Amino acid sequence: MYSNRIKNISLSPTMRIAAQAVTMKQKNIDLIDLSVGEPDMPTPENIKEAVRRALAANLTKYTINRGLLELRQAISDRLRQDYQVTYDVDELIVSNGAKQCLFNIIMTLVNKGDQVIIPGPYYPSYAEMVKLADGVPIHIMAREENNFKIQPDELEQSISENTKAIILCSPSNPTGAVYSRVELSALAEVVKNKDLFIISDEVYAKLIYEGTNFCSISSVNDDLREKSIVVTGVSKSYAMTGWRIGYAAGNREIIEAADKIQSHSTSNACTISQYAALEALSGPQDSVDQMRKTFEERRNFILNMLSDIRGMECVKPMGAFYVFPNISQYIKVKNSKIRLENSGDFAQFLLDKARVVVVPGSAFGSDNHIRISYSNSIDNIEEGLHRISEALSDFLP
Ligand code: PLP
Repeated sequence: MYSNRIKNISLSPTMRIAAQAVTMKQKNIDLIDLSVGEPDMPTPENIKEAVRRALAANLTKYTINRGLLELRQAISDRLRQDYQVTYDVDELIVSNGAKQCLFNIIMTLVNKGDQVIIPGPYYPSYAEMVKLADGVPIHIMAREENNFKIQPDELEQSISENTKAIILCSPSNPTGAVYSRVELSALAEVVKNKDLFIISDEVYAKLIYEGTNFCSISSVNDDLREKSIVVTGVSKSYAMTGWRIGYAAGNREIIEAADKIQSHSTSNACTISQYAALEALSGPQDSVDQMRKTFEERRNFILNMLSDIRGMECVKPMGAFYVFPNISQYIKVKNSKIRLENSGDFAQFLLDKARVVVVPGSAFGSDNHIRISYSNSIDNIEEGLHRISEALSDFLP
């Protein structure tokens, strides 16, 4: 009845726990939700004010498909100022969130049977999008001892004559790993003479800690700039997830092709949201820095609390707002009162016993981990981690 395309893709594996959490919340069960994938802060006031002005001026018609010229100019200026990368307005397209940018680019590049390398732990939608384009996702797992960053030799081994693209995500959802310029340069050597593209998901670029400078892939060298399509947006950096504005930067031909796809699917991203993004990118930036500081404090707080919980070792995340602790000590434990088979069982156990919602690592390709979001108040993080600690206290023999 349905297309083969739809048979091949799956709903997010997090849905089971998320659906139960919704039902429990509706029953007023006191849950601490540490599964959240968006900033908990409101959109900054100056952005909302700009939208009120745009509405008063009746700026509610279609815009050109790839986005308002003044918004693309603001994106170009910000990319140059923040990351020293130069894209002119013809090399940019504005879409309905970074997700649509990813989708457009994958549909633009991938033919039936083309392989797309997806280093894991990964954002779950990448593989499903590749499958929707009839491509073949090739998962390679970055190792924990390498701080969840893929090594040049691992990348090299995964490239075949059918490789069309690699999807990198830095800072990473779910691990918070951030590639440095040196690390990206080493990956650049591997792809130097190869005919492939790099889709670089940089949506968390502004949320980066310990004074690290974010390195955008296209700033590494000219070859990488030519091969890469940078995908980013305002969702995470400006607390604007619901406004649905993302943008992609790449060479003119790719952007034109993405524009074609978008013109026959959604047309321009919501006009009023484009005015909101224009203010976000060209207005004062202090709220971004404030959010970053808040997240860094929470990150330090949660890492500190996790270090006191047995069997929850955690690589220190350098960006985004997630920790990805290793929970393998609790899986398939002999003689434990409750037997947990995988990360899904572990997340279910925390939901049932601790009333805390987390995301099983299986959603991101690793069954030995869970993802905990610290996009929540310090009080909630403290209470959540306290409950987790209690629930696990008599678990291990
Ligand atoms: N890429 C990553 C790594 C994400 O975590 C998300 C959202 O969670 C997206 C892309 C999608 O971003 P947007 O909400 O702008 O579509």
